[in-house]
Amino acid sequence: MKVHNFSAGPSILPDVTVENTAAAIKNFAGTTLSLMEVSHRSKEFVAVMDEAIALFKEILDIPTGYSVLFLGGGASTQFCMIPYNFMNKKAAYLNTGAWANKAQKEAKLFGEVVEVASSKETVYNYLPKGYEIPADVDYFHITTNNTIYGTEIKYDMDVNVPLIADMSSDIFSRPVDVSKYALIYGGAQKNLAPAGVTFVIVKDELLGKVDRQIPTMLDYRTHIKGVSMFNTPPVVPVFAALQTLRWIKEQGGVTAMQKMNEEKAAVLYNEIDRNPMFKGTIINKEDRSIMNICFVMTDEYKELEKDFLEFATSKGMSGIKGHRSVGGFRASTYNALPKSSVQALVDCMKEFETLHVK
Ligand SMILES: *Cc1c(COP(=O)(O)O)cnc(C)c1O
Repeated sequence: MKVHNFSAGPSILPDVTVENTAAAIKNFAGTTLSLMEVSHRSKEFVAVMDEAIALFKEILDIPTGYSVLFLGGGASTQFCMIPYNFMNKKAAYLNTGAWANKAQKEAKLFGEVVEVASSKETVYNYLPKGYEIPADVDYFHITTNNTIYGTEIKYDMDVNVPLIADMSSDIFSRPVDVSKYALIYGGAQKNLAPAGVTFVIVKDELLGKVDRQIPTMLDYRTHIKGVSMFNTPPVVPVFAALQTLRWIKEQGGVTAMQKMNEEKAAVLYNEIDRNPMFKGTIINKEDRSIMNICFVMTDEYKELEKDFLEFATSKGMSGIKGHRSVGGFRASTYNALPKSSVQALVDCMKEFETLHVK
């Protein structure tokens, strides 16, 4: 039997994504050639790219005036590409985690960075609120889902400056009002595809407003003009992304994803809150992520953390060890994770309780 995959990233994908990609690696679109050995400019692959872009726009209901790009370099390359293309003098960043912190560190190479708020002091265990965004910044950057710590901004903010969001680990987990954003980006390996492709949704009219020269590959306009084919795109991950997008649509789109994800998260958080051996690391319930669920053992049972990890692993739970900066456990409950996997983890926690709580 296959284990339950709670890995934070790369992470679980729909079975159909893995199966169709495996098949195409052997024989792509009836060409008798592998997906890995055909030209990205072949009519068969151009069709894949076109459909992936079109479905991406359809599923997220992206308004006209925005481009969808599939790039290399990971979300981490976006940390510099964003200031390169958008920052003239000054940008604002909300520091809600290690990725947010890395993003703002890169921006400092290009100008002044205003950190509007930070929860770093308490290992990022809440989402700061009530901060002010200076009116004269070129953009405001947020990380909607903090993969390592388990907080999530689950709504679309209203701000008076261009809003840029890293949605690496919650894209397609809920409907998004894209019109509120200047740019949304993320590595695909959390909720969409294998590692190797980075998605970008960018509002075209906001580009071309900085004074500096931009290297060709780091200029979003290059990739808009080239329809993500200026250079060789990561063909296998793009093909896989298309399979996942078709699957999302078939399941009922992002509204259905959100419903499923909320149900799964509720089942697990309820058990964390109920079971005397465990507690959540995120105090404010409204800040809790529905994608990465972090928990530790209560002080009374702290020394059993290693035992629980071994126990859960023996019962088929994979990838639940928490990030080293938080400790404890992290269960990632991305779109493709079935509810039965969450139930299996909850059963494990209950069984561990009966073994240890008198
Ligand atoms: C994983 C992750 C990243 C890093 O993505 P790479 O594609 O590995 O560069 C950035 N931001 C968030 C929120 C992530 O979860």
